[in-house]
Amino acid sequence: MPEQLTVYNPATGEAIESIPQQTAEDVEKAIERSHKAFQSWSKTSAGERASLLKKWYELIVENKEELAELITKENGKPYEEAVGEVLYGAGYIEWFAEEAKRIYGRTVPAPTTGKRIVVTRQAVGPVAAITPWNFPNAMITRKAAPALAAGCTFIIKPAEDTPLSAYALARLAFEAGIPEDVLQVVIGDGAEIGNVFTSSPKIRKITFTGSTPVGKILMKNSADTVKHMSMELGGHAPLIVDEDADLDLAVAQTMASKFRNAGQTCVCANRLIVHESVKDEFAKKLSEEAAKLKVGNGLEKGVNVGPVINKKGFDKIVGQINDAVEKGAKVLTGGTYDQNDEKGCYFVTPTVLSNVDTSMNIMHEETFGPVAPIVTFSDIDEAIKLANDTPFGLAAYFFTENYRRGIYISEQLEYGIIGWNDGGPSAVQAPFGGMKESGIGREGGTEGIEPYLETKYMSIGL
Ligand code: NAP
Repeated sequence: MPEQLTVYNPATGEAIESIPQQTAEDVEKAIERSHKAFQSWSKTSAGERASLLKKWYELIVENKEELAELITKENGKPYEEAVGEVLYGAGYIEWFAEEAKRIYGRTVPAPTTGKRIVVTRQAVGPVAAITPWNFPNAMITRKAAPALAAGCTFIIKPAEDTPLSAYALARLAFEAGIPEDVLQVVIGDGAEIGNVFTSSPKIRKITFTGSTPVGKILMKNSADTVKHMSMELGGHAPLIVDEDADLDLAVAQTMASKFRNAGQTCVCANRLIVHESVKDEFAKKLSEEAAKLKVGNGLEKGVNVGPVINKKGFDKIVGQINDAVEKGAKVLTGGTYDQNDEKGCYFVTPTVLSNVDTSMNIMHEETFGPVAPIVTFSDIDEAIKLANDTPFGLAAYFFTENYRRGIYISEQLEYGIIGWNDGGPSAVQAPFGGMKESGIGREGGTEGIEPYLETKYMSIGL
């Protein structure tokens, strides 16, 4: 492994910065420091942790422009979207600063009068986090904030494509007064660092956001030391448009869900399942809106869709478009791309496909790109069956104005997050996470601090 990691701007191919990479030995030392710091951090008062987190939140908001520019440079998403990510990510810190004060225990009536039962909660221990490149800032705060609030120490390994936001966040945390050994960043090879984390008995919890195959490796490798695990994994979100849907609303929300971050979000609509009676109108409106999106460097004004992160991601997206077209899909808009292998820059034009069927790869694999495939249905149970026909269960969307039908659909969908007439359900106040192979555990909401807490039961004899 080279000593330095150079981070490139995916929109221009320019090097942004070179930073040192850590070896397995360095990571072991970081774990030692984390373990030592846990002894004191876990004994601080909830109020103290809350005020440090609050200060961190304020510094992030104060520096939002600088942090957003860094996100756009290393990830490629449009600047306005990056500002949104910074504020969304900071919101988790503010939220969990408050939740730190609400780590309640309980007393339980004992089986005899000669005993008392007291249940308390305490931090699980040092936590190791591994995060992806698609939200270089918010995926970190969503984990670090509840961990620190609970009294855990935290080591983060960000994605190699976007490590700079992690450092920027850590610098602001130290400025806020959070001790350096309480929040550490390590950079290097994912598999190597992952193995150090999973094999260490001192790391008591792994929290991971990324692909399902890597999540499975981390779970298997953590078995020997029986760690707590939180897994935010891949998705393959269905979006159902029923015959009585408000089509303008459905189109606007589909645009927001599908094309944000160039379609590189785990909750973005991946399969549009549209009632045959409204399919033509929906497809026309969606294609017209998608064709208006401006593709380019996210730092330029008016750009709505930035580059895709790298060649691997680009090849997968273009492969899915070509596979669909070869099998009979019709390109309503887009279908083109701009590939510069020399610079390492890849742009995909927002694409809408019709005549899609289940023989096509796009109906089974997460796309992680700005491609919207439309399939039709005539009976709602057929749409629900298609929606659930995947090992994933992260987010699902549906559009209907009929509340009886809406309740029915929502109860049938095997997904952790449901957007009913809403293409953007993520919120710091709500539990985010998936069913089936999309993960274990929830982030955000009152549920978000639970995975960082142990339950201790004390039986007092009188
Ligand atoms: P990925 O390949 O799984 O990488 C994610 C992280 O895991 C990176 O930091 C990566 O490090 C590291 N990693 C890679 N191989 C590893 C190994 N063998 N052991 C330990 N760590 C390893 O995923 P990605 O392609 O970056 O991200 C896209 C995926 O994330 C999609 O499937 C998406 O749905 C999912 N995602 C899920 C959520 C959610 O909340 N459910 C949110 C965002 C994204 P390197 O970068 O150094 O390789």
